[in-house]
Amino acid sequence: MKQLISILLSVAFFIQISCAQTPKSSYDIEALLAKMTIEEKVGQMTQVTLDLICEGEPYNLKVPLTISLPKLKKAVIDYKVGSILNTGTSANTQQRWHEIISAIQEAAKDTKRKIPVLYGIDAIHGANYTQGTTLFAQQIGLAATWNPTLTEELAAIAAYETRASAIPWTFSPVLDLGRNPLWPRIWEGFGEDVYLSAELGKAMTRGFQGKNSADKYRVAACLKHFTCYGAPLSGKDRTPAWVPERYLQEYYLPGFAAAIDEGAASIMINSGERNGVPAHADKHLLTDILRGQLKFKGVAVSDWEDIIYLHTRHRVAATPKEAVRMAVMAGIDMSMVPTNFSFADYLIELVKEGKVPMSRIDEAVGRILQMKKNLGLFEQTHYPMSDYPKFASEEFRLKSLQGAQECLVLLKNEKNILPLSKATKILVTGPAANTMRSLNGGWTYSWQGNIADELAKEKNTILEALQAKLGAANVTYVEGAKFNAPVNIEAAAEAAKSVDAVVLCLGENSYTEHEGSFDNILLEDAQIELANAVAKAGKPVILILAQGRPRVFNKIEPQISAILYAPLPGNEGGNAIADVLFGDANPSGKLPITYPKHPNSLINYDHKYTENIKGMANIFDPQFEFGTGLSYTNFTYKNLIISKKQITDKDELSISVDVTNAGTRAGKEVVQLYISDLYASITPSVRRLRGFEKIDLKAGQTRTVAFKIKTKDLAFVGIDNKFITEPGDFNVVLGGLSGMFELK
Ligand code: BGC
Repeated sequence: MKQLISILLSVAFFIQISCAQTPKSSYDIEALLAKMTIEEKVGQMTQVTLDLICEGEPYNLKVPLTISLPKLKKAVIDYKVGSILNTGTSANTQQRWHEIISAIQEAAKDTKRKIPVLYGIDAIHGANYTQGTTLFAQQIGLAATWNPTLTEELAAIAAYETRASAIPWTFSPVLDLGRNPLWPRIWEGFGEDVYLSAELGKAMTRGFQGKNSADKYRVAACLKHFTCYGAPLSGKDRTPAWVPERYLQEYYLPGFAAAIDEGAASIMINSGERNGVPAHADKHLLTDILRGQLKFKGVAVSDWEDIIYLHTRHRVAATPKEAVRMAVMAGIDMSMVPTNFSFADYLIELVKEGKVPMSRIDEAVGRILQMKKNLGLFEQTHYPMSDYPKFASEEFRLKSLQGAQECLVLLKNEKNILPLSKATKILVTGPAANTMRSLNGGWTYSWQGNIADELAKEKNTILEALQAKLGAANVTYVEGAKFNAPVNIEAAAEAAKSVDAVVLCLGENSYTEHEGSFDNILLEDAQIELANAVAKAGKPVILILAQGRPRVFNKIEPQISAILYAPLPGNEGGNAIADVLFGDANPSGKLPITYPKHPNSLINYDHKYTENIKGMANIFDPQFEFGTGLSYTNFTYKNLIISKKQITDKDELSISVDVTNAGTRAGKEVVQLYISDLYASITPSVRRLRGFEKIDLKAGQTRTVAFKIKTKDLAFVGIDNKFITEPGDFNVVLGGLSGMFELK
């Protein structure tokens, strides 16, 4: 019944937001642009951080910033900045956001042109810089749901609550492909597969923007970070990537291309370098590919301080002024400067010296003004809080809970130990057991997510949710270890002797960007010691892995009876884990990454044949394969039908299969279609995901799932760096069944 009410509420919400269309603005951008001075234009291209207009101590989480009127005047009236970003210290209340944005927009009204300021923020898993917001799973968790509809619904909630905070622009979704599990931001994206990432990227963009981003419940999306940020060779943040053009085309562009086709309003540029060229100075990438090939019409914004870094870090520009010239000429429209006004000063000089043509400035400013117009800002910059009665509502919480439940991946369930009976007495131990940080990750109330325990006090950690489910008397808690140091491992080992099962919560604390770079993918020693110690009691050990990156734990895996992977499920994560452990929810998440078993073997699922040769040392031997995840029910696949044995370029192939829930309880299954070229002029991948569908089946129910495949869906990037298909045999794999067809 609860589920039915939640479905009805959610349908009502989506009907409401799709009806809340604001008429498109008729504001005349061209006429405005024609009147603007060089200072006004360059101001529009300048984005500064909130700290620059505030008094107080930026990044001191205890001291709230307050707007300084002289600083506000300098930024908005003297420099005429077009955009402001960020939160200064930590999450503000909704009320405080309204005060900040109102002050900024009031100042903008005192300028000659009265152009509204575009405020932007990293609202990446909810309006995560607004207190009390509905926080849902991070993107790696959304990817583990393999559920585009749910992803779109959650993004729409984030849009609603961001606009409810008076902010119309989010720096999301991340479409960096996470093919290197060492990279500290892999959890900010949709994992390692290009198809899954593109499908979910489109869904998230739709959820943010709807059909009309002027709608007061929608925001503009910003795809990031264009591109190859997720491919650093060393695995460390913002270190060099070497990605040949062929791989760029095949893996690192399609996700962006798909979301651009979906109408994404803006794009943020990768802070790193590819093949020795920093993305911010890469005209081939930012103009030829982004504008030419991908036909992107929106705003290209730099990442944080990245134009300055062309001089100070990358050292491709001998002076900061040259850095500005390079970036603007490469194709950047807006500079996230963000802590001073140097960009505006240098750019005015460069235009006056004839080193940057006015046509390039007009192009950039035209795009920025158009984005403001599309957001309806010229009519109304923000709406009263009372227009957003669903902010932090029960309806939104239930959606977030659904996301958290669907993202949990059951990786092992020996002797069907799970679900546990509610009469089980358990020991809960481990560093991730009693913190909201391991459930939420970075970008949670603060950049590093380090105040989640204070600001999500009323939300349940794993421990609190288990206590609520079983009654405190049935739950013993011993911390055991911090993430990287023992605390009272012996006490945990002792406590394990007098319970029926141990819930061992290991993983990672919150982090992002360089603060998450590390030298070792192994789960820390203290956590391994804790696992070994509690396992000695001989009771079933249920391992919860609450983490952003797949940490290697092969040494303890054999002693564990069941493993539940919790890829940053958000504020409802504790409740969702308790629901799954005790059978109130049936897990349906599937891995969106390959879970490595060995630290030196970080190979993706769609590897080449030479990476897995039987009888040689090149063995693909992950801990868990991409796409895997167990359920409490049992799905069987029958009747794989490939509509034609031979096809030509003009044909459409239908591939169908009957999926049956052969168990005794309802469950969701992700039907995954893999197709691979047996032979090709560029070494083919062993497997490639070419389609998927998440279905919901009652016990005993059967459904036929059909995929329509055109030859372009089988394409790969050939020797001339263009997508091609070649005649030959293709192998189809669907849920353990396989078949073949030939492309003539
Ligand atoms: C991050 C971006 C983020 C920006 C603004 C940068 O450091 O790389 O992902 O959008 O800061 O907060």
